[in-house]
Amino acid sequence: MRRANFLKHIAQTSPAPMGLEIAGGEGVYLIDSCGKRYLDLIAGIGVSALGHNHPAVVEAVQRQAGAYMHTLVYGEFVLGPQVELATLLCSQLPKQLDNVYFTNSGAEATEGAMKLAKRVTGRTEIIAATHAYHGSTQGAASLMWPKDFTRPFHPLLPGISHLDFNCDACLERITERTAAVILETVQAEWGIRKPRVEWIRAVRRRCNETGTLLILDEIQAGMGRTGTLFAFEQYGVVPDVLLLAKGFGGGMPLGAFVARRELMETLTNNPVLGHITTFGGHPVSCAAGLAVLQTLLDRPELLAAVPEKEALFHRLLRHPKILHLRSAGLWMAVELADFDEVRRAIAGCLERGLITDWFLWNERSLRIAPPLTITVEEIEWACGVILAALGDE
Ligand code: PLP
Repeated sequence: MRRANFLKHIAQTSPAPMGLEIAGGEGVYLIDSCGKRYLDLIAGIGVSALGHNHPAVVEAVQRQAGAYMHTLVYGEFVLGPQVELATLLCSQLPKQLDNVYFTNSGAEATEGAMKLAKRVTGRTEIIAATHAYHGSTQGAASLMWPKDFTRPFHPLLPGISHLDFNCDACLERITERTAAVILETVQAEWGIRKPRVEWIRAVRRRCNETGTLLILDEIQAGMGRTGTLFAFEQYGVVPDVLLLAKGFGGGMPLGAFVARRELMETLTNNPVLGHITTFGGHPVSCAAGLAVLQTLLDRPELLAAVPEKEALFHRLLRHPKILHLRSAGLWMAVELADFDEVRRAIAGCLERGLITDWFLWNERSLRIAPPLTITVEEIEWACGVILAALGDE
């Protein structure tokens, strides 16, 4: 009955939904309505960095829900969970990133950052990367690539162009007319592609020369996914605007764009209330986000273990059908021959109690992004299941 009503009343986004009926979550596991346990190797697409129902997050949510839930959230009232989370977050960021605008989601963080860049520079052009994904709302979707994907929703925003990740010659296209360049620190939906460090540094320099804001999207890459709290720390560049969401809220809806105070102050006037939100930075979400960040800081062994766990995946995932394994910390794309192989592997894993997925712009790769809390034994088991799902050698 519930399944029938799911198909009848819940809007679906694909013709063949996975349709797993979720009854509970516990650590790296999701449990279905029949009591079958599934190891969640994608963590809700990189959301549950501490696993499902982490006690610190649950306790924070319950405590805040009992105190107060909602009131004006957009910088008018002093709300403890917002202030504490913003203060702790900024203490972990370079001093240029000292001011936080909370949102409900990643797409809203992207939208806010795009408006901020226009407001700060007085310019309208924005450059994104080919194969980018920054969200599905209309502004964020304007940054999307491939463009055919968004054609049914045109017209989208004008003034958007794209350059190839790691293309040196393309940097000349960043000019005095460019309000912002927006890049993922690791391209997520293109199947985990890192920029060359020299390239992203050259982008930073070109943005400085032209007065263009550099927006780095760490919506999937942030909160320890790549082994450091933020991936940009590994490149030696500091963005003008940092985008966060997904793992930031520990399972509650929360995102943010972070910039320096002088930039963010432009949103206070001309027009007053020019960028507002009813729910962004909800106190319960911020309490959850604070618990996540505090836990990651209190347990440095979680991030310290990322390279070792990443290496273990590399050692174990060897199979003639695995053509390539790209990774950035506990975030991987297992490249197979084609979409049919990927689909078969996902179904075989699911049958055996393992949740994986593919990537939006890379159907040939299997997605791995487990909770950072995954143990060595759980990795061994998960890799064994993937190999079994790929079939006999
Ligand atoms: N940016 C990146 C890199 C993402 O991976 C996503 C979501 O997958 C978004 C932005 C959009 O976030 P949301 O789905 O919360 O709107």
